[in-house]
Amino acid sequence: RGGQAQREITFAQPGSLTKVYAIASGKGGVGKSSVTVNLALALAGQGLKVGIVDADIYGHSIPAMLGVADMRPTQVDDLIMPVPTESGVSVISIGMLKPRRDQVVAWRGPMLDRALVQMLADVYWGDLDALVLDLPPGTGDMAISLGQHLPNAEFVVVTTPQEAAAEVAERAGTMASMMHQRVIGVVENMSYLPCPHCEAEGKEHRLEIFGSGGGARVAQTLSQRFGYDVPVLGTIPIDVALREGGDAGAPIVTTAPQSPAGAEFLKIASTI
Ligand code: ADP
Repeated sequence: RGGQAQREITFAQPGSLTKVYAIASGKGGVGKSSVTVNLALALAGQGLKVGIVDADIYGHSIPAMLGVADMRPTQVDDLIMPVPTESGVSVISIGMLKPRRDQVVAWRGPMLDRALVQMLADVYWGDLDALVLDLPPGTGDMAISLGQHLPNAEFVVVTTPQEAAAEVAERAGTMASMMHQRVIGVVENMSYLPCPHCEAEGKEHRLEIFGSGGGARVAQTLSQRFGYDVPVLGTIPIDVALREGGDAGAPIVTTAPQSPAGAEFLKIASTI
């Protein structure tokens, strides 16, 4: 759009009624995208109008998790229409901005910045109650861009119980704070595996595959560091159905809302 003035990011304007949640993690593979999708659908389940921005340059797995991996946004004049999903949540992914699907996103800071602004300002989102962003793991250029363009974004930090994951998650939270954004809580994912054999016998036994305490540790460290309460919003168990739901484009919060994982997402959505 040569020479044209850049559109404004309405979500960042004072008085915007859209809650903006940024889902962050220290490293990949901890379930950040799974949390993004299930949280967004849980919010939509409350009757809210929700959009998802998949800004994870490494993963951009959100469209697949929502069953719209092959969909492309349409364009009306110079506005991009986000991809609608069955659940009513609309989505735009950084993967959808690439000319070819198998192309690697090897973009430097300024291009990432442009991509983020495009997904926020050039997409026709309509009146959203909540916008949920899936960030790349870590403390890179995208986190800085987000701090500049969406200072009002509220961060949810995802970690596993593992010490090493918690340590890098703390850094992601601290980065948000350096950008003057608020961290509203921590989600501990893959917290435990309910032992299926004990369950069959009517007993509860949790196998702590990744150890324990990571979520609480991140929450405590960030609370101390920031001087306000950063709670553990929820603990999500390891659940085969959650993984399968992600692979199949049918997130667990809609297919099994009463499962321990599904219920935990609903609980988190009602507290944030
Ligand atoms: P990230 O976005 O942090 O890289 P993903 O959400 O893509 O992580 O999750 C990585 C993989 O782990 C995916 O295959 C996902 O389905 C699976 N996964 C995430 N959380 C859970 C969980 N609680 N139980 C089982 N599998 C999970």
